[in-house]
Amino acid sequence: MKVGIPTETRPGETRVAATPETVKKLAAGGANQVLVQAGAGQPASYPDAAYADCGATLVADAAGVYGQAEAILKVRAPQQHELALLRDGQLLLGMLDPYDFEGLQHLASTGVTAFALEAAPRITRAQSLDVLSSQANLAGYKAVLLAANQYGRLFPMMMTAAGTLKAARVVVLGAGVAGLQAIATAKRLGAMVEASDVRPAAKEQIESLGAKFIDVPFETDEEREIAQGVGGYARPMPAAWMARQAALVSQRCAQADIVISTALIPGRPAPVLIAEETVHAMKPGSVIVDLAVERGGNCPLSEKDRIVQKHGVSLIGYSNLPALVPTDASALYARNLLDFLKLVIAQDGTPAIQREDEIVAACMVCEARTVLRKK
Ligand code: NAD
Repeated sequence: MKVGIPTETRPGETRVAATPETVKKLAAGGANQVLVQAGAGQPASYPDAAYADCGATLVADAAGVYGQAEAILKVRAPQQHELALLRDGQLLLGMLDPYDFEGLQHLASTGVTAFALEAAPRITRAQSLDVLSSQANLAGYKAVLLAANQYGRLFPMMMTAAGTLKAARVVVLGAGVAGLQAIATAKRLGAMVEASDVRPAAKEQIESLGAKFIDVPFETDEEREIAQGVGGYARPMPAAWMARQAALVSQRCAQADIVISTALIPGRPAPVLIAEETVHAMKPGSVIVDLAVERGGNCPLSEKDRIVQKHGVSLIGYSNLPALVPTDASALYARNLLDFLKLVIAQDGTPAIQREDEIVAACMVCEARTVLRKK
């Protein structure tokens, strides 16, 4: 099998789908030939020479990679001009936006057999190929560093000869993978942290990191049942619970210096958790990092890929935080892909899609010019 790694072309994307480490492992797979577009790893600090040393064949341009490879490894879904380079029967693996039905239709029209790794089930066996987790973890870490950089004060309590500085108060909304890493990072920097999530299981995880759980009690069995979520993911909560949460979040945010919001519900717009009045009530100089910005944002005032000031508060709306730590983000992502590849390529390098495997079945989004997911 010829495996190709083209350069990512989305504006701001700095990651690459294979590193010299994973190329070496791929190339060791017998019949595999690994084709890397020259310069593909450059933004993530992986030079061409390192790929070549690990057994890759460097190819001058994207057309050469797409034209020769039988399997294409990508970070993000192909853009319009890349669709034209894909061909019938080719395998395509990446973060292909499985909830974007229109995008999948375009992809299907090329004839590729495509796997969107974001659709992998949250089961133990899938942990090593879980791209959402590997990238969200880094995003949660980077979000706190961005906030600390933007904030005009320090995170830790500091006793100095010139007086004492108070520890920063951090509120984290959504305690999934990104949120839990944000809590841990803010704690390591010395902040006082509290966090909210709909899923009752999050309480113990938040507390085990030394943060305080912002408890929004359930008032009906329906609320309690919906809050359990499905497959580890949250479901939209009833309006009454959301209203009670909003009141509590508003109160906690008004006391906070930093808010890191990460709340998401798969396939839906992000829940609005920080209303304009809440931003208004926050102290001047406070910082909000809205990790949900790509899906509409947890705060309606945040703007995609910009830092804006509203009511004296800085809102950071960077939509691709893993791209700000591209070396590590690529390293983890490339290992996720390598692990998934074992389910579609046999050890000797021949194609062998394990269709009956539940991970493969969940991730396979198009084949034979047909979208395999429901609208
Ligand atoms: P996500 O990115 O879909 O959402 C982030 C968080 O937002 C979630 O914790 C969700 O409950 C929360 N949220 C949604 N609506 C909210 C609201 N109104 N208020 C507050 N919070 C809200 O989630 P994720 O980070 O991908 O992780 C979801 C879960 O899956 C976590 O429990 C995680 O530990 C689990 N997980 C399991 C595995 C595995 O077992 N293999 C792998 C990864 C993640």
